[in-house]
Amino acid sequence: MRDNARTGLLVRQASVPLALACCTVLLVVGAFAPSPRHAIGRIACWLLLLAADLVCAIRTVRFRLRAGRADRAQPRNWSIETALLLAVSSQALVQLTGGVRSPLQPLGYLVGAGMMIALPLLVAVPLVAVVIALDAALFFSAGAMRTQWPLWLAQTAFTILFAALYHALLAAQLWRAGRAERTAVRRRVADAEERARELRLVATAEARARADDSESGESLLSPIERETLAAVSEMESALKGALTVAEAALKPHTVAVFLCSPDGATLRLRECVSPTEKLFLGPLSAREGALGAVLAAGRTVRLDGDGPALSYYEGRAPVTCFLGAPLMARADGDPFLEKPEDDQAPSSDPNARSNDALGVLIVDRATPFSSDEERALAALAREVARAIESERLLFAVRREKEEKARFFRALEALNRTSSAADAAQAAVEHARSLCDTLDLCAITLREGGDGAVPSFPPPTSGQPPSAPPRSQSRARHRILAAQGDGSAALQGLTFADNPGLVSNVVRLGAPLPGRDLGAMDRVVIFDGNTVVRGLAALKIFPLRAGDAVVGTLVCGSRTRHGLPMSAQTELAMLALQAAEALVRARLFEETERMATTDGLTGILNRRAMDDLLAARFAEAVRYKRPLAFLLFDVDHFKKVNDVHGHQAGDAVLRGVAQVAASQARDSDRVARYGGEEMALILPETDLAGAMVIAERIRVAVAAAEHATEGGPLKVTVSAGVSVVGPGIEKAEQLIEAADQALYRAKQSGRNRCVAARPRVAA
Ligand code: GH3
Ligand code: MG
Ligand code: MG
Repeated sequence: MRDNARTGLLVRQASVPLALACCTVLLVVGAFAPSPRHAIGRIACWLLLLAADLVCAIRTVRFRLRAGRADRAQPRNWSIETALLLAVSSQALVQLTGGVRSPLQPLGYLVGAGMMIALPLLVAVPLVAVVIALDAALFFSAGAMRTQWPLWLAQTAFTILFAALYHALLAAQLWRAGRAERTAVRRRVADAEERARELRLVATAEARARADDSESGESLLSPIERETLAAVSEMESALKGALTVAEAALKPHTVAVFLCSPDGATLRLRECVSPTEKLFLGPLSAREGALGAVLAAGRTVRLDGDGPALSYYEGRAPVTCFLGAPLMARADGDPFLEKPEDDQAPSSDPNARSNDALGVLIVDRATPFSSDEERALAALAREVARAIESERLLFAVRREKEEKARFFRALEALNRTSSAADAAQAAVEHARSLCDTLDLCAITLREGGDGAVPSFPPPTSGQPPSAPPRSQSRARHRILAAQGDGSAALQGLTFADNPGLVSNVVRLGAPLPGRDLGAMDRVVIFDGNTVVRGLAALKIFPLRAGDAVVGTLVCGSRTRHGLPMSAQTELAMLALQAAEALVRARLFEETERMATTDGLTGILNRRAMDDLLAARFAEAVRYKRPLAFLLFDVDHFKKVNDVHGHQAGDAVLRGVAQVAASQARDSDRVARYGGEEMALILPETDLAGAMVIAERIRVAVAAAEHATEGGPLKVTVSAGVSVVGPGIEKAEQLIEAADQALYRAKQSGRNRCVAARPRVAA
């Protein structure tokens, strides 16, 4: 039974490809052409082709019916089979109607275009190639290729052109649809932001979100934007609820909520239930009419028969009795509410109270309202205000939580860095994620001068960072990381202390510029030679670590309100953390350097050399690459010490190390092997190459004069050179071979270089 089932499945799966192959062969031998001699054979060919087409069609219809959903994708191989059958069928029709000269030739173009539309590009392109190849095969089989190749060429060109055209059309359509979706999402967010501003959820200068580079609509929204949308819809349902209750309880003509603009100057209709469509939708003055009276009084206002005061109607008001209650925010103020930048001090302006009103809830009708109804509306207004208030508070808490999480993520990233460059990069990236309207962000580091972060070469005083003195003539600044407009030119830039803003921030230890500078183009941020154009807002924060200012965080925006107060507070906090991270990273680098450097000569110490040689040796053996080792020793050095003193000996050692380092290539590493012996690790270098370098060092040392207190001194060196090869299985053996060669150099008269003898493999 199972065998039967398997055979059945095999037949079902193989039938279409088999029919396809047969039809292709028949097509190539011209079996579909109208030939009176083989009429029966021709009918059989056509029946086979039609049967195959029918099977494909039935298969697809059944799949659709079973799958239940029209958009379910059918198996990929089915699509390919169907596409190929279409190609073969169209060619059969062409053959029937006259072959290469048939008027139905353009069917091929349509099939190619159809493939491009219906199938993924990676499948469609090979299929179009198959269509072209089939066409060529038919030309050949008809013996037309030799004489009519231009026709084939034209046909091929058309097929490709059609396919490309349809693909481009499809791509353009997809792009348009994607753009429309993105625009729709943006519009929704902008609309919600506008309402959020009315509900005092966000400050007016709050950043407009940058378009995400992500494709999907949902990820176009930042967490804050999503919160905003949720909070806005929450508040709107509170407003709608209040209107329903007011409508049922007070039987008004119109019941409506007007909300104040963020500056409190105007009111705008937000929600209403009214039989008339003549309600005014534009901004209304917050100081005039019935609405202005409610705001000014700060309590319910009842007007009986005062139609002209109902200015929220376009033209004449249809009713004359009015009852309005203000939607008051908490009197003690909202700790999360952002205040404008230049409004930090508590205001004594009596008008400022009107800012506490979120809006007005009104009802009107033809008959006067009673005191009970007035109390009911006042209670309703209080409920609405409370709902808005609590949602606002909740939103602020959620927003603060998100901001804190963002900040801690930044801290975590900063703390993970172990180099100053990485720390600066992380700080710049997180500054931009904290404030998405930053168009320029950079970290500068003070180098040299007292109070700078430890740097190379290490300060001789070895004192910890301290407060900068007034004169900082030796101080320089380096831009360690920069992102945004024109940042490529800024990266790595160094400049001397100057009257520019960065230098001044370091000097004063306080953020600059203190005020909006207006003509930003003329402001020197870094130094006179580096012009940063197009910034409309700028703030440079000091990087303070303890008492010292180690650098600055430069933040600039092209938009005037691109650096709101809230963002500045966060950036200032980030600057503090960045300073700590930078100092820590620099100290880490310094410690690392000290652990691997020889104190007297500044070249690698023995331990670091052993580690490096072990690593290079393992690489050389594994990848079968050359590696050379050079050991040299100062000749008659004891005599230098004895005659000129130990100090002079030290000076000579420093000089010799310097000469060796200057003669080595970038890839070579010079190390102090011990005493007055030094070594070079030479990767990718064979014996001949290493001997050249050894000789170069020998000659350079012999020519160099080393300044000592007792006058200039000259010394020579002897060198031994060894390379990785047979018999050298460990790094120690490489050193030993060089040491033996060095010994022979000494034996044979000094001031010379000797190559190690090749070892015989054990
Ligand atoms: P040769 O040509 O055979 O090398 O003779 P040499 O006098 O150089 O002999 P050797 O290599 O044995 O001498 C090493 C001397 O280097 C002994 C030691 O006092 C001196 N030395 C080692 N380290 C230092 C150092 O850090 N400073 C100074 N001034 N001298 C050092
Ligand atoms: Mg020695
Ligand atoms: Mg010596």
